[in-house]
Amino acid sequence: MHSFGHHAWSHVRGIERLSLCDWPGHAAAVLFTGGCNLRCPTCHNAEMAWAPGRLPALDRGEVLGLLSRRAKWLDGITVTGGEPTLVPGLMDLLTDLADLGLPVKLDTNGMRPGVVRSLLAAGLVRTFAVDVKGPYAKYPALTGDGVDAATARTNLEAIFRMAAQAPGAFYFRTTRVPMLQDEDMDTIRGLLPAGFTLVEQKYVAPQRRTDAQTDSQARQLPGDLVPGTYRPGHIQGAQGQRHQGSHPLQAAGA
Ligand code: SF4
Repeated sequence: MHSFGHHAWSHVRGIERLSLCDWPGHAAAVLFTGGCNLRCPTCHNAEMAWAPGRLPALDRGEVLGLLSRRAKWLDGITVTGGEPTLVPGLMDLLTDLADLGLPVKLDTNGMRPGVVRSLLAAGLVRTFAVDVKGPYAKYPALTGDGVDAATARTNLEAIFRMAAQAPGAFYFRTTRVPMLQDEDMDTIRGLLPAGFTLVEQKYVAPQRRTDAQTDSQARQLPGDLVPGTYRPGHIQGAQGQRHQGSHPLQAAGA
C-alpha cells in the first residue's frame, strides 16, 4: 500500500479496457487522468482535460481487479489524459500498475520534463509517447496560450536530451491539426534528436458536445472494441464523457 497512491488514483477518470490503436503493436488498456496544463483548441477530450471534476472517479481496487483479470489479454497499459505528469503521486499509481506485470506507456505533452526524468529514472514507464504540437513559434496558438514559445522549447529540448540518452524509451508524434502546414511538419522533424522519426496522426475535428450521442457513434473506429471510444490522438476516448450517469466500469464493458 502506498501512502499517496489513493490520491493519485482519484485523478483517474476514465478507462478503456482494450485499445488496439493506441500503442502501436500492443493490445493495451488505457487509463485517463483528469486535468491538463494546456488549452489546445483542437482538444478531443476537453472535459477530461479541463473539467475532470464532472467525471466520476474510478475505484482503485476495481480498476486494478479489472486489469489483473484482463492482464493475459493485454500487452500493456497506456496512461493518458489530460496530462498525466500533473497527477500528484503518479509514481505510486505507476507502481500499482507495475505490480500487474504489464509494461506502461505514458502519454505526455512534454511540458513537465522533470517529472518525465523521475519516471524514466524509476523505470516505471516502458515508453513515453510525447506530443510535439508544432514548431515552437506556434505553441501559443496551438495550446490556447497554455505555454509560450520559449518555454515550450526549453521543455521539449530537455525531453529531446533524455530521448537521445534513452532512445528506446521515447517516441514522438504530432497530430496534424489544420494550423500545421507541410513546412511545419518538416520543422518538427528537424527538432527531433537524431534517429527519431515523427509519428504523424490524422486530425479529426472534435464534434460538438451537445451532439454527444451521434458523436459517440460517429467516432467509433473498427478494431476498437469498446462502444463509443475514439482515440486518434493521445487525449481522446474518455469513457466518462460518453457514459455519464452510468457506472464507468460497466460502461467500459467490465
Ligand atoms: S490536446 Fe492534450 S495537451 Fe492539449 S489540452 Fe487536450 S489533453 Fe491537454
